[in-house]
Amino acid sequence: MGPADVAAAATTGPGRAVRSAADFTSWASAGPGPFTYVVDLSGVLRLAPRESEHVACAEGGEVLAAGEVSFTRDGGGWRISEVSNQSTGYCPDPSCWPAVAAAAERAGFGHPGGFTAEFVFRRCPGCGQICVVKEGDFTCAVCGSPLPVWVKPRLWVKPRLGGESSALNEALHRE
Ligand SMILES: [Zn+2]
Repeated sequence: MGPADVAAAATTGPGRAVRSAADFTSWASAGPGPFTYVVDLSGVLRLAPRESEHVACAEGGEVLAAGEVSFTRDGGGWRISEVSNQSTGYCPDPSCWPAVAAAAERAGFGHPGGFTAEFVFRRCPGCGQICVVKEGDFTCAVCGSPLPVWVKPRLWVKPRLGGESSALNEALHRE
């Protein structure tokens, strides 16, 4: 399969494991990203084209982390230039960063040492909507209920039932 075939197959199928810089070579022809990523429960980075849903990238499984990632050339290899926890399918807590760092380091990618864009997600106890917290305002944008400031950290994240939330996607992209 050529790079274009790889990308096409991954759009609808599960994300492809990237365990080394060589594994990324087939992606590089598609540009530096951003790509959809998950870190699966075995700690492996999996990439899919950006338009892919994270839940599809992870084959519907639980993950250690999820978001979007871009790469840049670093000598003969690749380094992660930008990485976020932006996944409305999983709404991972920013505390999942160590799983991303570990997966990147095992594959030989340099990384920025933390998320370059970080999102805090909370489920509203009032209306059940998943909200993204902006500028430290823990208030539901839908019903005005206070959102929990502290939630128990989780070591892995289950996919949200119903997959991606278009309302949440809009909130994420609204300035
Ligand atoms: Zn609410």
